[in-house]
Parts: sequence; structure tokens; C-alpha cells
Amino acid sequence: MGISRILIANRGEIALRIHRAAHEMGIETVAVHSTADADAMHVRLADHAVCIGPPSATESYLNHAAIISAAEITGADAIHPGYGFLSENAKFADIVEAHDIAWIGPKPEHIRTMGDKVQAKKTAGALGLPLVPGSDGAVSDFDEMRAVAAEIGYPVLAKAASGGGGRGMKVIPSEDQLESLVKQAQNEAKAAFGDDTMYLEKYLGNPRHIEFQVFGDGRGNAIHLGERDCSLQRRHQKVFEEAPSPVITEEDRMRMGGIVADAMAQMSYRGAGTIEFLWENGEFYFIEMNTRLQVEHPVTEAITGMDLVREQIRIADGKDLSVKQEDIRFTGHAIECRINAEDPFTFAPSPGKIEYYHQAGGMHVRVDSGLYAGYTIPPYYDSMIAKLIVYGRTREGCLMRLRRALGEMVIQGVKTSIPLHQELLEQPDVLSGNYTIKWLEEWLAERAENET
Ligand code: ADP
Repeated sequence: MGISRILIANRGEIALRIHRAAHEMGIETVAVHSTADADAMHVRLADHAVCIGPPSATESYLNHAAIISAAEITGADAIHPGYGFLSENAKFADIVEAHDIAWIGPKPEHIRTMGDKVQAKKTAGALGLPLVPGSDGAVSDFDEMRAVAAEIGYPVLAKAASGGGGRGMKVIPSEDQLESLVKQAQNEAKAAFGDDTMYLEKYLGNPRHIEFQVFGDGRGNAIHLGERDCSLQRRHQKVFEEAPSPVITEEDRMRMGGIVADAMAQMSYRGAGTIEFLWENGEFYFIEMNTRLQVEHPVTEAITGMDLVREQIRIADGKDLSVKQEDIRFTGHAIECRINAEDPFTFAPSPGKIEYYHQAGGMHVRVDSGLYAGYTIPPYYDSMIAKLIVYGRTREGCLMRLRRALGEMVIQGVKTSIPLHQELLEQPDVLSGNYTIKWLEEWLAERAENET
């Protein structure tokens, strides 16, 4: 019969994003929410809403039993997890499928494989993706680590197999520091993930972060939707993303895109995925795969004209991919600014009541946000409150429109990162696209120094 009612196991802008795609397809939605989110926009717009617990995410948005019960009570026949929360939780995906509810995401076995970084790297290598030189899997013995490090050359990076968010990772500049730094990384990993399995990688000095969007139908067909450049990062958190990357040629896009799509076809991958690479001196190096929709997916939507959430729902419903690779056209340029409720200088979170809200508009301007005047941003969750996505026929046109649109956004009552984005748009390196994953941190450090 097909999917007719989707439970959205998330909150904020992404819950709204999924609701909108569902409604356009004639599908009803069920919002779930914590007690802190009773007044949230995703709850107001959904066809049905179920309170699943107290503010703490562990007891609400991460609560398997409460979410499955909400789906059963409301008769939802599919669950979309969004990003974060349960989106990369293979066990939850298993439970959803065991209840005969369609999981709008990859096969649980693929979530599991890609969630373990050692396993993911092995799989990626076997599928033909270029890897960062490093140890062949996990290493636990210091003599072996020294041998591997000597072979790939210092500096090396010690990484935790279960790592995430940049934790459990240490740069090792030379052999005499190897043992102590690896032990530190192990302690960090043990505390954060309960697992201190480590592996070693060549440390790339100044790469860009380039990721490819992929889709598979789960039956051996896959496509790529080009790349996104997310090199502007603070503490491994993306701040500003664009597509296409200012440094990737059409030839490289189609060559690497072909490699990633082929890899996904080989594994019969299902749904949306992102393959992340570091890019240095013209070479791509696989770092990880995210088996879900990404925050920055709208820049890909802008340059391809495709609705990625619609595509996810179609695939979960057993349909074929809606397009063939040769039909996908990349046109123009798109940039996304993540707007957080935080101090633009200290980055301290700034939750609170929105006194006044005016959203930017006009041609090729998209704002994905659950904000409204009178809404109170709860202090319990991620500080991202809006995404501003702007499209232009050229990168220059896109930047000019972005500057105009940022100037129109009014969010009163809390501090936001809008002034930071406005400042970034005055930097010659940002304007020319001349930045790597180090750029933002270095610029922020310089800015802080000039302040004092
Ligand atoms: P996590 O899952 O913790 O986010 P990743 O493997 O995605 O871990 O790495 C996080 C970030 O660390 C990357 O975005 C990049 O900035 C940096 N990084 C990872 N591997 C390397 C490497 N081999 N050389 C240099 N930087 C790296």
C-alpha cells in the first residue's frame, strides 16, 4: 500500500524539513516531542503529536520504547530519524524494522559497519575508495604502532575506532611522544565511548573537507549528487557549507562521484549517505561515511533541484531512484550558513525567548527553521536554530545574495552567530574560496588576539 503516515523521530528544523516533504507527497506526519518542546513548530504543524518524555534527550528523543510506542499508538507505518539522535543507531533501526515499520534510512547492517571506523575504513578500501595511509586496522601494541608510524611518517594521528565529534583523537608529532599521547587518546575514548580501540593514520597538514552525497536503492543501483565543501569548521563543527566546492573540477567531480556511486552500488546501499574525504594536493582521502541525511543537504538540493527527503521516502517505500546519473545536472552555486543561538565571539550558548523574528526572503533564499516570535529556545538541545541557504548562478552572485539575506534576518531576544557569518563574508579568503579545515580556527584565534 505504501507509506501513508511517517513518525518523525526528531525536533527543530529537520523535523519541519521532513514534515514538509511528507506533506507534499500526501503523507501524514506524527511529531514526537519532549515536555520542553510542547510549543515547538514541528509539533504545531504535524498531523498528530505524541509527548515521549521529559526534556533530557536520553529520556525522550533517544528513548526507543517511547518512540516505538508512539508509532504503534498513532499507526505510523514509517519512521524518519532525521540527523543526530537515533539516525545512526543500528539497534534502533533493527527494532523499527522488527515492528514492521519502514525505516527511512540505510539497512541496519550498513549503519553498523560504517559506525565502526576501523570496519568502515576496511570496507571503503575494499570498495575502491582512496584511504588515508595508516595502520591496517586496529593496533594495540606500542611496538607495532611505532613501526607503522615510522613507515607512514610523522606527524601521525591516533584515532579511536568508536570515535565521534573529534574525540579520542590525538596528533603525534614524533616517536618520543607516541606512547603518552596514544594513552591520552585511549583514556578519552574509553571515557566517551567505553572502547579504547585505536588505529593510526597519516596526519594531513592542511586539507579541505569535501564530501559526496550518494543515494542507493538497496538493490544494487546508486547515484551521486556531487560534492559539498565543508572546510569552514570550528572544533570539527561545520559552520558554512557550499556546493560545488570552489576547488573541485568537473572532471574530478564525475571521476570521484563515479567511484563513490560504484562503491554504494557494490554494497547495495539503501537510502541517503555521505562519504567524507579530506582533500589535499589534488588527492582525496576517505575519512568516514555518514549513513543518514546531513544538516547541509540543502546546498545539494539547490544545485541539483532534487528533494533529498522525498528521495529518501521513495526509497524506503521500495521505489526506484527517481533519476539516473546521466539526468542529474549541477547548476549554479549554493551556500549554507548555520545560525546558532550563541555568542558570536565566545560561542557560549544563548537559549531564551525570541522577542522578534523576521526571516530573510527573496529570490533563491531559503530559511529552514522552527523559529517564531514568542518561541522560547530550550537550553537542552543543539544550539542550531536556523539554516540560511542561498543560491546564485555563480559563486560571486551567491555570496552577494548571502550578504543581502544575512542583513535581512532579524532574531531578537537571543544572541546568534549571524554577526560571525557577516564578518566571514568580509574575509578575502572566504570570498575567494581559499580556505582549508584549519582556516576558521586560525582566523578566530587571530580575531581573539586583536580583541585584547
Ligand atoms: P569524528 O567521527 O570524530 O568526527 P573524523 O574521522 O570525521 O572523526 O575526523 C574528524 C575531523 O578530524 C575531520 O573532519 C578532520 O578535520 C580531522 N581529521 C581526521 N582525520 C585526519 C587526518 N588523517 N589528517 C588530518 N586531519 C584529520
